[in-house]
Amino acid sequence: MKTTPLRTPRAARSAQSGDRGMMSSRAGAAVVGVKPASEKLLSPRVSASVQRAAAQVLEQLSRQHRPALRELLQPLYLQAAKSNCLRADAVSIWEIAGETVWLPRFHFQRTSVVKDRIKVGIFAGIHGDEPAGILGLMDFIRELDETPEIGRDFELWLYPVCNPGGYLAGTRHSPSGKDLNREFWRGSQEQEVRVLEREIQARQFDGIIALHSDDTSPGFYGFARGDVLARQLLEPALKAAEVAQARDVRPVIDGFHAVNGMIYDSYDGILSAHREQKPQPFELILESPAVSPLVEQRRAFSLALASVLSEYRKFIAYGANL
Ligand SMILES: [Zn+2]
Repeated sequence: MKTTPLRTPRAARSAQSGDRGMMSSRAGAAVVGVKPASEKLLSPRVSASVQRAAAQVLEQLSRQHRPALRELLQPLYLQAAKSNCLRADAVSIWEIAGETVWLPRFHFQRTSVVKDRIKVGIFAGIHGDEPAGILGLMDFIRELDETPEIGRDFELWLYPVCNPGGYLAGTRHSPSGKDLNREFWRGSQEQEVRVLEREIQARQFDGIIALHSDDTSPGFYGFARGDVLARQLLEPALKAAEVAQARDVRPVIDGFHAVNGMIYDSYDGILSAHREQKPQPFELILESPAVSPLVEQRRAFSLALASVLSEYRKFIAYGANL
């Protein structure tokens, strides 16, 4: 598939005026668990404009302000505009209480060579009050673009803000008061769920990864849903994340039986593939401890995601040699 570098997407440009209103009306919205942190996450190769945009996001977060969508995503939009492997657009654009919001989507493919690629969807921010996953996925997208080798053999579909209304309001739930992560494949009327279900059906992912934060957990942990493979990917991912975050090793986490930070059960209605998709993708949920410094949670997500791609690539290569 040809990857065309995009300008700042139409969604972002048309939302510009609305964003200003959002900023003033949301100026008091506190970001839970955010502590000031220096920006250690940008590689020196990143352009000055991306650095500036990223610094602005961080500066707002350090003042306990929640940047508007366009400002939050600006570093990635600038990066995508100059990239040969990263594209930016929106899954859907709609209005919430007169304000334009959109569900941003990024697409990564290392080269434009036509070949079979492993298709993985990575989703963050389905709970609007969990900024670490949003920022961690944004960091990972930047890393992919700076070091495309991380994403070799993959076609990645990346959705950093799956509940834009909840993010802007600083709430777990959607603006209509629903926990979106209990609504999937149950005939939900929630806009975010409907467009994500369509997206998941259309892409038929080989893997689905969702990022969350838990404010009752002292460490990083994860859920592996379905097959043995998901479990085999989760252990190395948690191990990789340990560089930034200790693992939650309690025997019971969030009410579920856990082994060394791994849970093999889940709630119903979570973001996942349709149960009739064949073959079923591997499905992982990564959970960061919301009480720990944001910079550490972000790093843990980046490290864990890179590990999943690398381990899955090894698995596919091994399978091909059988
Ligand atoms: Zn969550």
